[in-house]
Amino acid sequence: MSGFEIKGWCPGALRPMASGDGLVLRIRAPNGRLTPDQARSIAGLSRRHGNGLIDLTSRANLQLRGVGAAGHLAALDALVEMGLLDPDAGAESRRNVILSPFAPVDSPAWQAAAAIARAMTSGDAPQLPGKFGFAVDTAPWVLGAVPCDIRLRPVDRGWQVVPDGGDWGLTAPDPASAAASAIALARWFAQGGIHDGRGRMRGYLRRQPDLPQGAAPMAAPDPADAPGPGPAPNGWMLGFAFGQITPAQLEACADAGALRLTPWRALLIEGADALPPIPGAIPDPENPLLRIHACTGAPACSQALADVRALARVLAPRLASGHSLHLSGCAKGCAHQGRADLTLIAQAPDRFDLIRDGDIHAAPTRTGLRAADIPL
Ligand code: SF4
Repeated sequence: MSGFEIKGWCPGALRPMASGDGLVLRIRAPNGRLTPDQARSIAGLSRRHGNGLIDLTSRANLQLRGVGAAGHLAALDALVEMGLLDPDAGAESRRNVILSPFAPVDSPAWQAAAAIARAMTSGDAPQLPGKFGFAVDTAPWVLGAVPCDIRLRPVDRGWQVVPDGGDWGLTAPDPASAAASAIALARWFAQGGIHDGRGRMRGYLRRQPDLPQGAAPMAAPDPADAPGPGPAPNGWMLGFAFGQITPAQLEACADAGALRLTPWRALLIEGADALPPIPGAIPDPENPLLRIHACTGAPACSQALADVRALARVLAPRLASGHSLHLSGCAKGCAHQGRADLTLIAQAPDRFDLIRDGDIHAAPTRTGLRAADIPL
């Protein structure tokens, strides 16, 4: 396996992460929604201060790439104007909430997610590791396969609040109580689940035999397939190769309506009832590029050992129908932490380890393959 640096935190706007192409500045839109004006302004920031590449992240955020130090300060001022900046880096880091993009504005799920965000940015918020997160679902559930630490899901009468990796959960009658239960569960985790500033709920449950007060047996969440591009309950969803867009694409989307950011690295255009004309968008859910997770890779990422996106475009036409492929520039696996039918991890510019039916941490079945010899 190649060496790589584990940072243990996610970038924000106030605390961007250095990458091979400059600073990566992550914008965490509250409840994952951008008005058309906000989206246009962000496109302008990417043009003026970034390198014109914008990532859609698996945590339903946007990332400006290639930002310089001076551009960073200017972008922060602009984000304040847009109402998209947290008061400090700690609050920004803790406000880690994914809301189902299908939740209407002001719906119960919307309210629950907003309540968690308020609690996590308040002065007495539980101090959680940077990657610890919440997911608030809608009915029917769509976030079953989205990684998180605490999951809120609506049921017939009320809500279930379920820890990741648990076969139990808490029940709550309404969105406010569900949010309060989620925060209580986070505090329970924080009592013993954090070491050296790191820790995730799933690992804590393996070590912790005692359950919190009120815990009741509950089925583990069903990992639903990620919805693909096409009509959605509240608009139209569009895919983009490797979840990356340009300022022009973001502006074109904004011209079609308000935007919802999704954990599937797609954009949902609220209220659209037909395919919006966005250049370069992938409207076909069968397009193999949508089944390929490829990280930034070389040359933009300083830790990358290969240009995995170029290889992804070469391999896409050969990918078997329905199969997923994860291409990673190093063993860190930024693009995808779950299983894939095939995972390729770069060891050198033209050398890859291959894992079948596993995640990035599984043992490779083949090592040192040249790109031309990769069996799909
Ligand atoms: S997985 Fe890809 S993007 Fe992440 S550090 Fe490695 S090479 Fe860079």
